[in-house]
Amino acid sequence: IEQTASHNDKLAILGKISAAIAHEIRNPLTAIRGFIQLLRPHLLQLGKDEYARIILMEIDRTNDIIHEFLNSSKPSSPSTPEKAVLRVTSLLRQTVLLTESEALMKDCEISLQSEQEEMMISIDAKQIKQVFLNLIKNAMDAIEEIEGRKGEIQIQAKSEGANAVISIRDNGSGMEQARLKRLSDPFFTTKEKGTGLGLSESYRIIQNHGGSIKVESSIGVGTTFIISLPLAN
Ligand code: ADP
Repeated sequence: IEQTASHNDKLAILGKISAAIAHEIRNPLTAIRGFIQLLRPHLLQLGKDEYARIILMEIDRTNDIIHEFLNSSKPSSPSTPEKAVLRVTSLLRQTVLLTESEALMKDCEISLQSEQEEMMISIDAKQIKQVFLNLIKNAMDAIEEIEGRKGEIQIQAKSEGANAVISIRDNGSGMEQARLKRLSDPFFTTKEKGTGLGLSESYRIIQNHGGSIKVESSIGVGTTFIISLPLAN
Protein backbone atom coordinates (compact mmCIF):
# COMPACT_ATOMS: atom_id res chain seq x y z
CA ILE A 1 0.00 0.00 0.00
CA GLU A 2 2.86 2.31 0.91
CA GLN A 3 4.46 1.65 -2.46
CA THR A 4 1.22 2.43 -4.34
CA ALA A 5 0.80 5.71 -2.51
CA SER A 6 4.29 6.91 -3.32
CA HIS A 7 3.84 5.82 -6.94
CA ASN A 8 0.68 7.94 -7.20
CA ASP A 9 2.39 10.83 -5.42
CA LYS A 10 5.13 10.70 -8.00
CA LEU A 11 2.62 10.64 -10.82
CA ALA A 12 0.86 13.65 -9.33
CA ILE A 13 4.15 15.55 -9.17
CA LEU A 14 4.90 14.46 -12.71
CA GLY A 15 1.55 15.88 -13.82
CA LYS A 16 2.26 19.23 -12.22
CA ILE A 17 5.73 19.48 -13.72
CA SER A 18 4.44 18.52 -17.16
CA ALA A 19 1.64 21.05 -17.04
CA ALA A 20 4.07 23.75 -16.01
CA ILE A 21 6.63 23.11 -18.71
CA ALA A 22 4.35 21.99 -21.55
CA HIS A 23 3.30 25.52 -22.34
CA GLU A 24 6.87 26.82 -22.25
CA ILE A 25 8.06 24.09 -24.62
CA ARG A 26 5.17 24.42 -27.03
CA ASN A 27 5.88 28.07 -27.83
CA PRO A 28 9.41 27.58 -29.15
CA LEU A 29 8.26 24.42 -30.94
CA THR A 30 5.59 26.38 -32.76
CA ALA A 31 8.22 28.92 -33.81
CA ILE A 32 10.58 26.18 -35.03
CA ARG A 33 7.74 24.53 -36.94
CA GLY A 34 6.86 27.81 -38.64
CA PHE A 35 10.42 28.55 -39.73
CA ILE A 36 10.97 25.04 -41.07
CA GLN A 37 7.86 25.48 -43.16
CA LEU A 38 9.23 28.75 -44.50
CA LEU A 39 12.51 26.99 -45.35
CA ARG A 40 10.75 24.07 -46.96
CA PRO A 41 10.69 25.41 -50.55
CA HIS A 42 14.45 26.07 -50.34
CA LEU A 43 15.13 22.59 -48.99
CA LEU A 44 12.97 21.18 -51.78
CA GLN A 45 15.16 22.98 -54.34
CA LEU A 46 18.23 21.40 -52.75
CA GLY A 47 16.59 18.00 -52.97
CA LYS A 48 16.41 17.83 -49.17
CA ASP A 49 12.67 17.93 -48.61
CA GLU A 50 13.01 14.63 -46.75
CA TYR A 51 14.87 16.50 -43.97
CA ALA A 52 12.05 19.04 -43.64
CA ARG A 53 9.53 16.22 -43.53
CA ILE A 54 11.41 14.44 -40.73
CA ILE A 55 11.88 17.67 -38.74
CA LEU A 56 8.16 18.44 -38.95
CA MET A 57 7.26 14.88 -38.01
CA GLU A 58 9.58 14.97 -35.01
CA ILE A 59 8.23 18.33 -33.86
CA ASP A 60 4.73 16.90 -34.00
CA ARG A 61 5.88 13.86 -32.09
CA THR A 62 7.41 16.09 -29.42
CA ASN A 63 4.07 17.82 -29.07
CA ASP A 64 2.38 14.44 -28.73
CA ILE A 65 4.83 13.40 -26.02
CA ILE A 66 4.06 16.53 -24.04
CA HIS A 67 0.39 15.73 -24.47
CA GLU A 68 0.97 12.17 -23.25
CA PHE A 69 2.73 13.40 -20.10
CA LEU A 70 -0.18 15.70 -19.40
CA ASN A 71 -2.55 12.76 -19.64
CA SER A 72 -0.41 10.68 -17.33
CA SER A 73 -1.10 13.20 -14.55
CA LYS A 74 -4.40 11.44 -14.03
CA PRO A 75 -3.42 7.97 -12.86
CA SER A 76 -7.07 6.95 -12.44
CA SER A 77 -7.92 7.63 -16.07
CA PRO A 78 -4.96 6.69 -18.24
CA SER A 79 -5.20 8.03 -21.80
CA THR A 80 -7.03 5.50 -23.92
CA PRO A 81 -5.01 4.35 -26.92
CA GLU A 82 -6.33 5.40 -30.34
CA LYS A 83 -5.96 2.11 -32.08
CA ALA A 84 -5.41 1.13 -35.70
CA VAL A 85 -4.36 -2.22 -37.16
CA LEU A 86 -0.75 -2.03 -38.37
CA ARG A 87 2.05 -4.25 -39.56
CA VAL A 88 4.63 -4.83 -36.83
CA THR A 89 7.57 -4.79 -39.23
CA SER A 90 6.73 -1.49 -40.88
CA LEU A 91 6.27 0.14 -37.50
CA LEU A 92 9.69 -1.11 -36.43
CA ARG A 93 11.26 0.03 -39.72
CA GLN A 94 9.86 3.54 -39.29
CA THR A 95 11.18 3.70 -35.75
CA VAL A 96 14.65 2.50 -36.69
CA LEU A 97 14.78 5.15 -39.42
CA LEU A 98 14.29 7.84 -36.78
CA THR A 99 17.25 6.62 -34.72
CA GLU A 100 19.66 6.14 -37.61
CA SER A 101 21.49 9.46 -37.46
CA GLU A 102 22.05 9.13 -33.73
CA ALA A 103 23.17 5.51 -34.15
CA LEU A 104 25.66 6.54 -36.81
CA MET A 105 27.11 9.21 -34.54
CA LYS A 106 27.44 6.72 -31.70
CA ASP A 107 28.99 3.96 -33.81
CA CYS A 108 26.00 1.71 -33.22
CA GLU A 109 24.69 -0.81 -35.68
CA ILE A 110 20.97 -1.47 -35.55
CA SER A 111 19.67 -4.62 -37.21
CA LEU A 112 16.07 -5.57 -37.73
CA GLN A 113 14.91 -9.10 -38.31
CA SER A 114 11.34 -10.20 -38.70
CA GLU A 115 10.28 -13.78 -39.15
CA GLN A 116 6.73 -13.01 -40.22
CA GLU A 117 6.34 -9.91 -42.34
CA GLU A 118 2.56 -10.16 -42.13
CA MET A 119 2.13 -9.85 -38.36
CA MET A 120 -0.53 -7.26 -37.53
CA ILE A 121 -1.25 -5.60 -34.21
CA SER A 122 -4.00 -3.25 -33.14
CA ILE A 123 -2.22 -0.34 -31.51
CA ASP A 124 -1.87 3.39 -31.03
CA ALA A 125 1.08 3.83 -33.41
CA LYS A 126 2.34 7.04 -31.80
CA GLN A 127 2.42 5.50 -28.35
CA ILE A 128 4.02 2.22 -29.42
CA LYS A 129 6.62 4.04 -31.56
CA GLN A 130 7.44 6.06 -28.48
CA VAL A 131 8.05 2.84 -26.53
CA PHE A 132 10.39 1.45 -29.20
CA LEU A 133 12.23 4.77 -29.39
CA ASN A 134 12.69 4.83 -25.61
CA LEU A 135 14.10 1.31 -25.66
CA ILE A 136 16.45 1.96 -28.58
CA LYS A 137 17.71 5.21 -27.05
CA ASN A 138 18.28 3.48 -23.71
CA ALA A 139 20.18 0.75 -25.55
CA MET A 140 22.44 3.35 -27.16
CA ASP A 141 23.03 5.01 -23.77
CA ALA A 142 23.89 1.66 -22.19
CA ILE A 143 26.39 0.96 -24.97
CA GLU A 144 27.99 4.38 -24.46
CA GLU A 145 28.63 3.43 -20.83
CA ILE A 146 31.25 0.97 -22.04
CA GLU A 147 34.15 2.90 -23.49
CA GLY A 148 35.17 1.93 -27.00
CA ARG A 149 32.49 -0.69 -27.47
CA LYS A 150 31.09 -1.04 -30.96
CA GLY A 151 27.38 -0.98 -30.41
CA GLU A 152 25.07 -3.66 -31.66
CA ILE A 153 21.35 -3.39 -31.25
CA GLN A 154 19.35 -6.34 -32.54
CA ILE A 155 15.64 -5.99 -32.99
CA GLN A 156 13.62 -9.11 -33.67
CA ALA A 157 9.94 -9.69 -34.22
CA LYS A 158 8.14 -13.00 -34.24
CA SER A 159 4.78 -14.42 -33.33
CA GLU A 160 4.25 -16.66 -30.33
CA GLY A 161 0.75 -18.04 -30.00
CA ALA A 162 -1.66 -15.10 -29.98
CA ASN A 163 1.09 -12.53 -29.44
CA ALA A 164 3.60 -10.56 -31.43
CA VAL A 165 6.89 -10.69 -29.55
CA ILE A 166 9.40 -7.94 -30.19
CA SER A 167 12.82 -8.09 -28.60
CA ILE A 168 15.40 -5.34 -28.47
CA ARG A 169 18.85 -6.58 -27.51
CA ASP A 170 21.89 -4.42 -26.80
CA ASN A 171 25.50 -5.17 -25.96
CA GLY A 172 25.66 -2.36 -23.41
CA SER A 173 26.42 -2.14 -19.71
CA GLY A 174 23.76 -4.55 -18.49
CA MET A 175 22.05 -4.09 -15.14
CA GLU A 176 22.38 -5.42 -11.62
CA GLN A 177 19.31 -6.73 -9.75
CA ALA A 178 18.78 -3.50 -7.81
CA ARG A 179 18.52 -1.51 -11.03
CA LEU A 180 16.29 -4.08 -12.72
CA LYS A 181 13.80 -3.90 -9.87
CA ARG A 182 13.36 -0.15 -10.20
CA LEU A 183 13.04 0.14 -13.97
CA SER A 184 9.34 1.01 -13.97
CA ASP A 185 9.58 3.56 -11.13
CA PRO A 186 8.85 7.08 -12.37
CA PHE A 187 11.97 9.27 -11.98
CA PHE A 188 14.35 6.34 -11.49
CA THR A 189 17.45 7.18 -13.50
CA THR A 190 21.17 6.48 -13.36
CA LYS A 191 21.93 9.15 -15.97
CA GLU A 192 23.19 12.63 -15.30
CA LYS A 193 20.67 14.11 -17.70
CA GLY A 194 18.03 11.39 -17.39
CA THR A 195 14.41 11.96 -16.45
CA GLY A 196 13.64 8.41 -15.42
CA LEU A 197 10.31 8.69 -17.21
CA GLY A 198 10.94 6.78 -20.43
CA LEU A 199 10.45 3.31 -19.03
CA SER A 200 7.63 4.09 -16.60
CA GLU A 201 5.74 5.60 -19.55
CA SER A 202 6.61 2.60 -21.71
CA TYR A 203 5.33 0.12 -19.11
CA ARG A 204 2.13 2.12 -18.81
CA ILE A 205 1.58 2.24 -22.58
CA ILE A 206 2.22 -1.48 -23.07
CA GLN A 207 -0.09 -2.29 -20.17
CA ASN A 208 -2.83 -0.13 -21.68
CA HIS A 209 -2.45 -2.21 -24.84
CA GLY A 210 -2.94 -5.48 -22.96
CA GLY A 211 0.71 -6.42 -23.43
CA SER A 212 3.72 -7.06 -21.23
CA ILE A 213 7.42 -6.16 -20.96
CA LYS A 214 10.11 -8.59 -19.79
CA VAL A 215 13.76 -7.79 -19.24
CA GLU A 216 16.81 -10.04 -19.31
CA SER A 217 20.14 -8.52 -18.41
CA SER A 218 23.68 -9.50 -17.69
CA ILE A 219 26.36 -7.10 -16.41
CA GLY A 220 28.96 -6.21 -19.02
CA VAL A 221 27.18 -8.31 -21.65
CA GLY A 222 23.96 -6.45 -22.34
CA THR A 223 20.23 -6.27 -21.96
CA THR A 224 17.21 -7.55 -23.83
CA PHE A 225 13.78 -5.98 -23.54
CA ILE A 226 10.99 -8.31 -24.69
CA ILE A 227 7.62 -6.83 -25.52
CA SER A 228 4.50 -8.93 -26.07
CA LEU A 229 1.45 -7.43 -27.75
CA PRO A 230 -1.73 -9.26 -28.70
CA LEU A 231 -1.94 -9.99 -32.44
CA ALA A 232 -4.90 -8.52 -34.30
CA ASN A 233 -7.11 -11.12 -35.94
P1 ADP B 1 16.24 7.62 -18.41
O1 ADP B 1 16.66 7.04 -19.72
O2 ADP B 1 15.85 9.07 -18.51
O3 ADP B 1 17.22 7.37 -17.31
P2 ADP B 1 14.32 5.46 -18.31
O4 ADP B 1 13.06 5.30 -17.52
O5 ADP B 1 14.19 5.27 -19.77
O6 ADP B 1 14.88 6.88 -17.97
O7 ADP B 1 15.40 4.43 -17.77
C1 ADP B 1 15.63 4.31 -16.37
C2 ADP B 1 16.98 3.68 -16.09
O8 ADP B 1 16.96 2.31 -16.50
C3 ADP B 1 18.15 4.26 -16.85
O9 ADP B 1 18.65 5.42 -16.23
C4 ADP B 1 19.15 3.12 -16.85
O10 ADP B 1 19.86 3.07 -15.63
C5 ADP B 1 18.26 1.89 -16.86
N1 ADP B 1 18.20 1.29 -18.22
C6 ADP B 1 17.18 1.39 -19.11
N2 ADP B 1 17.43 0.71 -20.24
C7 ADP B 1 18.66 0.15 -20.08
C8 ADP B 1 19.49 -0.69 -20.89
N3 ADP B 1 19.13 -1.09 -22.12
N4 ADP B 1 20.69 -1.08 -20.38
C9 ADP B 1 21.08 -0.69 -19.15
N5 ADP B 1 20.34 0.10 -18.34
C10 ADP B 1 19.15 0.52 -18.77
